[in-house]
Amino acid sequence: MKAVGPRRYELLKKLGVRSVADLLLHLPRTYEESLNFIPISQVKPGALVTIRGRILDKDYKPKLFGKSRVWVLLADDSGEIEAVWFDQSYRSKQLSEVDEVTLSGKARMYEDKLQLIQPKIITLSKEELEARLSPSAKRGQKTLLPLYPTTSGLGQETFRRIERNALEKYADEFPEIFSENFRKMRQFLPIEEALRSVHFPPSLRIARQAKRRLAYEEFFLLEVAMALRRRGIKEEHKAHRIQVTPRIDQRIRRLFPFKLTSAQDRAISEIAEDLQHQEPMNRLLQGDVGSGKTVVAVYALLAAVANKLQVALMAPTEILAEQHHNTLSFFLREARVRMKLLTGGISRSQRNEALSGIRVGEVDLAVGTHALVEEDVDFKRLGLLVVDEQHKFGVVQRARLRQKGLTPDCLVMTATPIPRTLALTVFGDLDVSVIDELPPGRVPIKTHLVPPQKRERAYEFIRKEINKGRQAYIVYPLISESDAIEAKAATEMADFLAREVFSEFKVALLTGRMPSAKKEEVMLDFRTRKTQILVSTVVIEVGIDVPNATIMVIENAERFGLAALHQLRGRIGRGRYQSFCLLFGEPKTDEARRRLQIMTQTTDGFSLAEEDLKNRGPGEFFGIRQHGMPELKIANLIEDYELLRMARKDAFSLVKADPYLSRPENFLLSRMVRAKFAQRLDLVNVG
Ligand code: ADP
Ligand code: MG
Repeated sequence: MKAVGPRRYELLKKLGVRSVADLLLHLPRTYEESLNFIPISQVKPGALVTIRGRILDKDYKPKLFGKSRVWVLLADDSGEIEAVWFDQSYRSKQLSEVDEVTLSGKARMYEDKLQLIQPKIITLSKEELEARLSPSAKRGQKTLLPLYPTTSGLGQETFRRIERNALEKYADEFPEIFSENFRKMRQFLPIEEALRSVHFPPSLRIARQAKRRLAYEEFFLLEVAMALRRRGIKEEHKAHRIQVTPRIDQRIRRLFPFKLTSAQDRAISEIAEDLQHQEPMNRLLQGDVGSGKTVVAVYALLAAVANKLQVALMAPTEILAEQHHNTLSFFLREARVRMKLLTGGISRSQRNEALSGIRVGEVDLAVGTHALVEEDVDFKRLGLLVVDEQHKFGVVQRARLRQKGLTPDCLVMTATPIPRTLALTVFGDLDVSVIDELPPGRVPIKTHLVPPQKRERAYEFIRKEINKGRQAYIVYPLISESDAIEAKAATEMADFLAREVFSEFKVALLTGRMPSAKKEEVMLDFRTRKTQILVSTVVIEVGIDVPNATIMVIENAERFGLAALHQLRGRIGRGRYQSFCLLFGEPKTDEARRRLQIMTQTTDGFSLAEEDLKNRGPGEFFGIRQHGMPELKIANLIEDYELLRMARKDAFSLVKADPYLSRPENFLLSRMVRAKFAQRLDLVNVG
């Protein structure tokens, strides 16, 4: 392309621009307004004006009555004018590099001379200028100049020139995926016009309108991909329909020592509805920590078992798998369900026994880690798979199961409070059930910041609580890339606490590096109150459930993100006692201070998540980038939420009407979706 040689291409690549199309979709971050572009002779005192002139004279006074002053005298063909800046000494250097300059600001009379006071310097080249001095601009209206997100070595003027070239030569080749009727209905500009007006808009209103179309298109392509993937899943047919009869329902509910919350009931009926359909369920069960997701999952598992199917419950770590195994053993103590644990921690003979039981159908319920979907695990009739805390689950594991000829119903549980906007994009191909209510009788957790000078008092407080019979977690964050070093820090701290601070109590240590038998033993001791204090690295982050533990100390709390803090805090407040979360540490940045402050103000995961999303942007939100979060270049998940909903609705109804995008009018769309998402989204049978 004209104006882009190898050097500039490298710079553009830094900005994620690799093609002309990328360039056209690299939108201005904002616009600068140059007001009232007029010849110098027409400048009147008091008016906001933009003028361009040659620099005839310059003066720089570092100190004048306490202020620095930069002064220039400018001329165009019609006249002369002065400009001054106070306390902006950098202008002196800026102005020494140019012969001509465009200034925008307010005019005044000073000692009988016209003067621009503190004007902005508008950066634009001669061609730019000519282009901007269109008839309308000459009449003294506003002109808008794009300001691009750029990188050093690529100035705004150059960028504008490159964009203008790209628009002139290629804007008309950019594919239009929307029909005229559709555009009319949604009030969208045609693509070419949208591109032109977003870069060089005649007004801010039109710039917004153009951007709206482009943001919609970005969402739309993404949602079409989601709809296609969903369609792919729905086309799989499972062998079994699972019926939840009133009798089965009663039998399952009898196993729970409490009445389910109405949120749990709602989730259960959504799941039951899915289970009886021919298409496999693909549902996300979302609920804050402690909201009772496990119970809902147990219900689904038992419903499938009652239908003579095998089921599997998969956890992200061995400890959690073991814990689920324990929880289930408790609920199932009066049921005839044959359950086996399958983790790396069990002996070879136990493993062989579990595997053969699964193969011949003598195991109804297998609990384990991702080992459950490995090759040598051969289910006789797998009807339902429940996955705990693994957002990414779906694409890969599902494909693996499909290869084995299995298309079970899938339920993914997550405590990550995913804001609704993200849920529609990250998990756009899943149905979502939300448990938005905690079981009754929970006492809200109190959270406090503990600065170093109050550490002793905090220890004293913990001592009192433990003497009342409670237990405490003390967590050490990742302080180094190596978990060996991290484990060492936790080990030293545990020693120190056991010897110096809490010598009257039993202090145990849990790190990620311990062998799993050891971990299990430590957890069991804690659960049975043989130990009162559990010092750990972040291995306790998810899922651990010890209602008697009411204290959570987080060391170096400022190093954790909101998500991790919330997850950790979710380990307490699970019983009927008042729980306390103590955030130790000293925030060094405003952002960290704010983060910890918010933790003391709310325990609601959704508000924390929204906050996190606002502060960090979706790319980093709760570590979701690894989970296949597509990057949005134009649209904004928070501001453009309504647009996203619309795009989703439109995309899903389009795919419903043309499931393979095989109609001629959808040819371009199909090509664009494939180009953008094929690898990422594991599309099946697109067009
Ligand atoms: P989650 O998996 O969502 O973090 P759990 O299912 O582990 O939550 O439930 C947290 C705790 O609340 C457990 O001890 C569980 O037995 C209990 N619980 C779950 N549902 C209810 C309910 N409806 N009433 C009372 N307690 C409940
Ligand atoms: Mg759980």
